[in-house]
Amino acid sequence: MNYSKYERMKQLIADMKLPDYRYEQIIKAIFLQHISTFERMSTLPIKLKETLIDTFGPSVCCTVPAACQTSGQADKILFLLPDGNCVETVNLHYKKGWESFCISSQCGCGFNCQFCATGTLGQKRNMTADEITDQLLYFYLNGHKLNSISFMGMGEPLANPNLFDALNILTDSSLFGLSQRRITISTIGIIPGIRRLTNEFPQINLAFSLHSPFEKQRSELMPVNRSFPLHEVMDALDNHIQHTGRRLFLAYIMLNGVNDSPDHAKALLNLLQNRGPWTHLYHVDLIPYNATDKTSRTFTSSDKGTMKRFRDILHGNGISVATRTQFGSDISAACGQLHGVEKDCIAAVESFHKKNEV
Ligand code: SF4
Repeated sequence: MNYSKYERMKQLIADMKLPDYRYEQIIKAIFLQHISTFERMSTLPIKLKETLIDTFGPSVCCTVPAACQTSGQADKILFLLPDGNCVETVNLHYKKGWESFCISSQCGCGFNCQFCATGTLGQKRNMTADEITDQLLYFYLNGHKLNSISFMGMGEPLANPNLFDALNILTDSSLFGLSQRRITISTIGIIPGIRRLTNEFPQINLAFSLHSPFEKQRSELMPVNRSFPLHEVMDALDNHIQHTGRRLFLAYIMLNGVNDSPDHAKALLNLLQNRGPWTHLYHVDLIPYNATDKTSRTFTSSDKGTMKRFRDILHGNGISVATRTQFGSDISAACGQLHGVEKDCIAAVESFHKKNEV
């Protein structure tokens, strides 16, 4: 079992036979005073600071920023993890001061969705709960507001069991203290993970990446459909809605000439109208495709007219639907584009290995 650094800090203080309030002082230093290094925690005795530094390193954060790209309202940060792997995190900031974060849950991804840049990397490993939450801790310690969090970065969150430890840390009132309703999990349809989320975090927003209403085509675009077919995922989503009473988001990437025909819209309509009493709680987001040169098959986005016709078929038949705009596509920070900027990644990994040779 992987213990989080917060649990390990508590244990370390017990092992040193120090009073419990020393742990509270550390947590207060991190989450109230935004202190990012153990050395600067002036309330702690020197011996404890030294032991913390020996155990966790000088910084409270295990994710190290290696590169940053900025475009308008989106910043994309490449984080170096302790073992030399890299992941990307996107910070979106809106005019009224609202900040939202798109975070990663796995290094690479093994699901091989045909349109996705991350999928070309293959699965390297699951991120730990500390690595997942430290993407946010880094921003928090640098004065950012964590208004909303979505697990839409690299990897499939519900395929990583550490996700649930990360959610416990994020929603723990003594740590990040985030409301479940500010968090969104996006999944390609990992049914056991959906069921666990339904039971353990019913107020967290759930978004399902649908992308085709036809089983055969969905299996071609998203091989996961062979293990978790669409009709079984829809049953799990119905159960989620029934249990939580919450709206459920269906993401539909619009691929020119692939999944954007009137027949697709009608099949999607049929799929949702068959949900019975739960239909009104399904909301469809139509998302223009963000081009990437990383995938072996090339896709382009549907044009505005096609998207409008598709939307009208759903909307005209009572389905809640919106067309989404995305920020950050010019720096490959939008949905499905996260890949790790190779040259930055290589430079960061080389410097990591050099440091560790000394
Ligand atoms: S869309 Fe998600 S699950 Fe599919 S390959 Fe990309 S990161 Fe993995």
